[in-house]
Amino acid sequence: MPKRKQVSTPAEESDLSPPPDGLLDVAHTDSEDGRPAKKRGRGKKAKSKIKTETQQAVSQEQALDKEGNAAGKKSKKTRQSKAEKEAKLVEMPLAQRTVGHKLYIGAHVSAAGGVHQSVLNSVHIGANAFALFLKSQRKWANPPLQDDHCDTFQKRCENLKYDQAQHIVPHGSYLVNLAHTDKSRTEQAYESFLDDLKRCEKLGIGLYNFHPGNDQCGDRPKSIAHLASNINKAHHETNSVVVLLENMAAGGNVLGSTFEDLRDIIALTHDKDRVGVCLDTCHAFAAGYDLRTPEAFKQTLNHFEDTVGFKYLRAMHLNDSKAPFASNRDLHANIGTGFLGLRGFHNLVNEPRLAGLPLVLETPIEVRDESGELVKDEKGKAKEDKGIWAREIKMLEGMVGMDVESEEFLEMDQRLAKQGEPERNRLEEQVTRKARERAEKAEKAERNPKKGGERGNARAAKVLEGSGLSEAENNRSESNMEEGSDR
Ligand SMILES: [Zn+2]
Repeated sequence: MPKRKQVSTPAEESDLSPPPDGLLDVAHTDSEDGRPAKKRGRGKKAKSKIKTETQQAVSQEQALDKEGNAAGKKSKKTRQSKAEKEAKLVEMPLAQRTVGHKLYIGAHVSAAGGVHQSVLNSVHIGANAFALFLKSQRKWANPPLQDDHCDTFQKRCENLKYDQAQHIVPHGSYLVNLAHTDKSRTEQAYESFLDDLKRCEKLGIGLYNFHPGNDQCGDRPKSIAHLASNINKAHHETNSVVVLLENMAAGGNVLGSTFEDLRDIIALTHDKDRVGVCLDTCHAFAAGYDLRTPEAFKQTLNHFEDTVGFKYLRAMHLNDSKAPFASNRDLHANIGTGFLGLRGFHNLVNEPRLAGLPLVLETPIEVRDESGELVKDEKGKAKEDKGIWAREIKMLEGMVGMDVESEEFLEMDQRLAKQGEPERNRLEEQVTRKARERAEKAEKAERNPKKGGERGNARAAKVLEGSGLSEAENNRSESNMEEGSDR
């Protein structure tokens, strides 16, 4: 590589990964509009070590950008405005990063325009850890990682003090089902998985999180063994990256919704140093692991320790749940607004065994009014605000050591619970209705075994076919992330 770092090279110049229209500025929308001037002022005033180093890093990048521009194809004006936008993300963050906190909290940020942009997007929301997609989550074929994006990513992590080995946890593709025993399907899944792991290693990233997939052959132990064999194979073809199994919300043929599943997959993985778990709070809660009271939280964690072991826990996804406890529905809610509730997160941030782990928000960033209704923009589209993540990070950090009887906590708890009430009611009604429908169907099938049996099979087949993907599609927060993925 030439010495010149193409740190601010606009993504649209790339022949390898031309992002579709409208995606390029996804990362910048918040800094362009909708941010209260007050917040910006506060951000500007704050002085921290990170801030100073950040400014240096960005001015270096800007200088390089101007140099690069002379030889570049784009007009100077375009280049500068791009560099200015990037500088703004860092110099005028929605919240300053907390330095020296025992918790590393962040969010799944956009990598639109290239993986290197995720670092700036993370600084912008005051995050000390983050997740990203390394390629498009909706298609199998993807252009390779660009060398310049890779160099810029590394440089930015170094300058902005993100430890790639510990605190950046890319999220795998929803398309990939490593447990699929069909030859061509498993090959396709494996290639995509391996490609992601290689991208991690090129970027210096140490952890990689993915969904364990689902059993498509009707033989759960066989699917688990197949999944583990794919992990083993991928370990042989890579050097260092640790793969993290994410626990899942859905039951049925979905793998990973119990701690026992995670244990069984790990048991068959040969290199135990390169396998771990990423616990998602929403998924756990929806799968029937309670986290709400301090007692329930402790019990769930102890169950995890006894079944899987804490040494395997390497990351967490922090999401509240729009769907009720043990509903098996994967619907992420903003912290404190769901059925899990703020107290569950108070338990979490005060749990000493979780200190030091990357804790990644995958919460929705659609703006809601006081009564919980979506706020639309002039075009009728749901308004988004990355400041939601910035505020959730600060709120979670602030709950360490907070008295749950204090006025501050009670006020927060009540306000957020009220905000989430309409969505909770909607989902509760839906879940109850579906359970009733299922019970009625089962009752009918019992009365008329032949007909009902056929219907039952057809339904089971449908669930089997759609699982995994339908979950992602149903999940607003995950689809938000897809919009920001690197494509
Ligand atoms: Zn998750």
